[in-house]
Amino acid sequence: MWIGVDDTDSRKGMCTTYLVGDILKELWNYGLELTGYPRLIRLNPNIPWKTRGNGAVALEVGIPNKKLEKIGWMEKNIYRCTAKSDSIDFEKVTEGLKGVIQENAELDAEGTNPGLVVTQKKPPYGVYAKTVKEIVTLKETREILDMVGAHSFGFKNGRGLIGATAAVAWRPYTDKTYELLAYGKNGKISRETIIRMDSCCPSTFDNYDYENRHIQIMPHAPGPVIYGVRGDNEKELKKAMHMLHVPEVQRWFLFETNQGTDDHLQKKKIGDIHPYESVSVTGYVASLPQTITGGHLIFSLEDTEKIDCACYEPTKKFRNVIRSLYPGDKITVYGGIRKHPITLNIEKIQIHELVTIHSKVANPLCPLCKRHMKSIGKNDGYRCRRCGIKTGEEKAKIVKIKRKLRPIFYEVPVVARRHLAKPLKRMQNLS
Ligand SMILES: [Zn+2]
Repeated sequence: MWIGVDDTDSRKGMCTTYLVGDILKELWNYGLELTGYPRLIRLNPNIPWKTRGNGAVALEVGIPNKKLEKIGWMEKNIYRCTAKSDSIDFEKVTEGLKGVIQENAELDAEGTNPGLVVTQKKPPYGVYAKTVKEIVTLKETREILDMVGAHSFGFKNGRGLIGATAAVAWRPYTDKTYELLAYGKNGKISRETIIRMDSCCPSTFDNYDYENRHIQIMPHAPGPVIYGVRGDNEKELKKAMHMLHVPEVQRWFLFETNQGTDDHLQKKKIGDIHPYESVSVTGYVASLPQTITGGHLIFSLEDTEKIDCACYEPTKKFRNVIRSLYPGDKITVYGGIRKHPITLNIEKIQIHELVTIHSKVANPLCPLCKRHMKSIGKNDGYRCRRCGIKTGEEKAKIVKIKRKLRPIFYEVPVVARRHLAKPLKRMQNLS
């Protein structure tokens, strides 16, 4: 049996993943336990009405048969179990979980519209694929829920059903990662401890931003999360937890996630791009990057059409990469599409070819008096002011400019990373 929950959080406080604990406690009343990892599924990051991280959760539960590995702690050890095929009273469970959400979700917050899905049959994978990449309507979602015979409840405008359904529909077909989330109050971890953990646990990623001295594993907004460590290896995440050693942790869970997988991206031609999508586009730089108010950078990318690509101030030194691009460079840009105006917000770039750049370093010398000659005008050549001798444009001293970039990937720093963006560290670890 699958349970999906979305949109219980608000801009300040709460967190849909925290609710997993309260849901589990409720499920214990019916003799139900986890039969898979709890799942944290990030959905389309460009949707304007999303909650903070646009993350939904899904749980696979059943009547436990045999304990497999330990995947959490909350009052007692939490194990992933195999399930017996006993009958479950779906209506009773749905009613119970409705109560849990009623009690714990930030229902008063404007824009918080929780959704709950309880179903025996999983919706097709395509439902997830569409929700992570595009915009899905509540009407489409309700049709899917009817199709699979799900029990569901949408609070307020019910928009949370969209994410709850998509979370249940996810399967780790192409890629997946894990996140160990630890909850409690006032837990502290020193910078040194985090750096030590980071270096001892090479399959984890996005722990610490060395360039900007930013601790990424601890949230900088209020809420119940003390830390979350992401990685490719669930055993190493438990090692990370032991290394971080925070006595204040009151519950922790190991989530299976779609974070860091690039699942949101679609390979597109510029002419086929729509607002709120995330894309990878290959083309040529069509204008020199310009700095605009606020320290953001904009340049134009061209295939057969053009689109503005933006690199915002919070991406810090990554802007130096963008600033070093020249018209004619062949690159692939990865990122989300903003609507007003249509702009590609860069997450990472791959450089394929760099154009050769020449620059004039000095005007030619006069053959008679050996002084620098003066330019007559653009492309018109030079004249010596003293002797009156003229020479052509080609006599100027031209040097090849050394390009600062190489034909590799460049990504925004950890501090500016989006949940779904695949870090280069993972691309290297996996290849
Ligand atoms: Zn001269």
